[in-house]
Amino acid sequence: MQGAIISIGDELTLGQTVDTNSAYLSQQLVKRGIFPRYHVTVPDDRGQIARAITHAAQTVPVVLVTGGLGPTEDDLTREALADAMGVDLILDEASLQHISSFFARRNRPMPERNRTQAMHPRGAEAIPNSNGTAPGIKAKLHDTTIYVTPGVPRELYVMFEKTIGPELDKLAGERAILTTTLHTFGQGESDLAARLGHLMQRNRNPTVGTTVSNGYVSVRIRSDFPRKLAENELNQAVHAVKSALGAICFGRDDQTLPGAVVGLLVEKKLTMATAESCTGGLLGAMVTDVPGSSVVYVGGWVTYSNQMKASQLGVPPEVIEAHGAVSVETARAMAVSARERSGADAAVSITGIAGPDGGTAEKPVGTVYVGLALRDRARVFLLRLGGDRETIRDRAAKSALQLLRLLLMGEKTTGVTWAEEQ
Ligand code: ATP
Ligand code: MG
Repeated sequence: MQGAIISIGDELTLGQTVDTNSAYLSQQLVKRGIFPRYHVTVPDDRGQIARAITHAAQTVPVVLVTGGLGPTEDDLTREALADAMGVDLILDEASLQHISSFFARRNRPMPERNRTQAMHPRGAEAIPNSNGTAPGIKAKLHDTTIYVTPGVPRELYVMFEKTIGPELDKLAGERAILTTTLHTFGQGESDLAARLGHLMQRNRNPTVGTTVSNGYVSVRIRSDFPRKLAENELNQAVHAVKSALGAICFGRDDQTLPGAVVGLLVEKKLTMATAESCTGGLLGAMVTDVPGSSVVYVGGWVTYSNQMKASQLGVPPEVIEAHGAVSVETARAMAVSARERSGADAAVSITGIAGPDGGTAEKPVGTVYVGLALRDRARVFLLRLGGDRETIRDRAAKSALQLLRLLLMGEKTTGVTWAEEQ
């Protein structure tokens, strides 16, 4: 089954309000196995709203409309719906009762305009609104069921949960669309697409597609089958995608990279410390964002100047003198000292050039060294990162987390393609 979503309001088409209602309604449809065929946003214009409803009713069996049910002149959805249905508006006594008692409870007279909120097209029915004055409307046009809901998000949510959702559950029947997302870090989107190969073919079911956000490449899987089969099909696809991705896949759905690292440390009963220069504490912040990280994270240093690297962390000044603050040797010394001084099982150091200034021909902006001291072994990786200052710092911290994770799992660190062991 397919559905369409129509959101209404000048504030939406003008870009003053972000249309979060459509996203919510889409998710609600998908959850019930109703495929959202399209979204359309129209301004507070009676003709345009009516045309959008007419078109949707000719195209799909379920239409969700949000916004324009308010009491003011620019709220035209109920008139437009009546136009599309070719009927007039009638007063719904029960709705009028609800609206006037809403005002009576607040000791306020009911403005005359609110009376219009009790109107709906002849043949339609009102959907109760326990969170506001405007009832929703349920109507039939040809064989299509149309639900109209208020634009105020919390009124929409309650109306959906109480009335519309349960009705759609019955309507949706036997098909289920299940979705899940696997997250990776360390390779570009095209590298991943190459690995996934035939799994990404457009005509397959489950479908597999990639998206990129903040350096993470995520793989979305959508399984659209009769309810009995959907879960099994999804799980099989997840298994196939995971094997194609390998160790760079760190989580699923709301799992995060820092969360995966913390989880791994907990599982292995290990602790970690950090020693940061160019990331200025970003790595420590990412780790401590994870609830429960105190079990594994002992703390860290932010040593920005050479003097602090020497005095607080104990990096020998001659090492910095001879090789520079951004070097294999300094990164190694930072990690080794951080581990020794903190008593943690593992320590991660980051030193690099985030730019925009400070780059040289030999060490351009984006040159970052990550040191990983794990028990009695210290390794250093050179990252060659691109982008602006913010991106370089962010990717440096995430690369350090992924490298630590791969080492802890005994996996190849070559999974992070821009990291080269020194
Ligand atoms: P109602 O039918 O309850 O009057 P409406 O959309 O006509 O809803 P508005 O005054 O336009 O009433 O909007 C009410 C509030 O809901 C505003 O804060 C508006 O920004 C917000 N809103 C309306 N539509 C959406 C939407 N699609 N997504 C997110 N917020 C929305
Ligand atoms: Mg509006």
